[in-house]
Amino acid sequence: MSDQVCKACKRIIEGKECAVCKSGDLTRSWKGTLIVYDTDSGLAKSAGQAVPGKYAMHIV
Ligand SMILES: [Zn+2]
Repeated sequence: MSDQVCKACKRIIEGKECAVCKSGDLTRSWKGTLIVYDTDSGLAKSAGQAVPGKYAMHIV
């Protein structure tokens, strides 16, 4: 389990900083995974995600 979640944008990433917002504020505890393929979808918009990728649904 090398994946971590960026606390700023909830993106699930590998490595030590978020590729999107460059935040190094990460966590390994989250629940649920939201995969965004189409940023124009209602689901992605309601979740506030502007970049396709994998996101955590809830940071715990
Ligand atoms: Zn981020």
